[in-house]
Amino acid sequence: MAQAGQGFKRVLLKISGEALMGSKPFGIDMAMVERVAGEIAAAHGRGHQIGLVIGGGNIFRGVAGAAGGMERASADYMGMLATVMNALAMQNALEKKGLDARVMSAIPMPTVCESFARARAERHLEKGKVVLFAAGTGSPYFTTDTGAALRAAEMHCDALLKGTSVDGVYSADPKTHPQATRFDTITYDEVLRRNLKVMDAAAIALARDNGIPLAVFSIRDEGALLDVLQGRGTFTTVTA
Ligand code: UDP
Repeated sequence: MAQAGQGFKRVLLKISGEALMGSKPFGIDMAMVERVAGEIAAAHGRGHQIGLVIGGGNIFRGVAGAAGGMERASADYMGMLATVMNALAMQNALEKKGLDARVMSAIPMPTVCESFARARAERHLEKGKVVLFAAGTGSPYFTTDTGAALRAAEMHCDALLKGTSVDGVYSADPKTHPQATRFDTITYDEVLRRNLKVMDAAAIALARDNGIPLAVFSIRDEGALLDVLQGRGTFTTVTA
């Protein structure tokens, strides 16, 4: 992606819920949210149209709930609600930075935020509003990674940027395999074949089938978002 960054007029940024924990063991670290909001504002100031999907893993993961004995679908709905909380926190932080930001939920909750409607989201983005796509796909048994790939396809985004807690795609989990090596570029098919845990398989397949380039970078590294958008710094590009 080294040269492609500048060409990304419209991007879908996916941030894992975990990244919003900052230094806390769970939940939302507002200092981290504000820092990320500042970086999004800087990217917006450079003319990028930005759609955002924030995970919910810092608050609740459906799989964990199911492991504790809950019905999986109910646990997943709790996970989706967690993503709405994160989106509201980020919307607030973005507005404090002077941006106009709208939360659009895949699960209608009109007293809390707008419901997702593609045409409305399109208008928001064209007018320079940041759109936070909350509640993932709105269906259980999916993840926000898949929600992000879906919205990136629907909104015709030029790229899907995944800001996570590691600086790219590794041959194995670098947290547990210190000898793991990072890829600068890798294909969707290779990610799927090697079962690399960068994003779930459904999200990778959706990005592949719709020709959406994917960049994986560490949102914990200050300035990394702008760097990726300019084709600089450390990240992994996933393409065909
Ligand atoms: N979730 C879901 N359907 C979706 C998106 C999310 O059921 O389309 C639920 C699922 O339980 C998931 C939780 O919401 O575990 C939080 O999302 P995710 O794990 O993707 O968050 P992240 O890992 O990015 O923080």
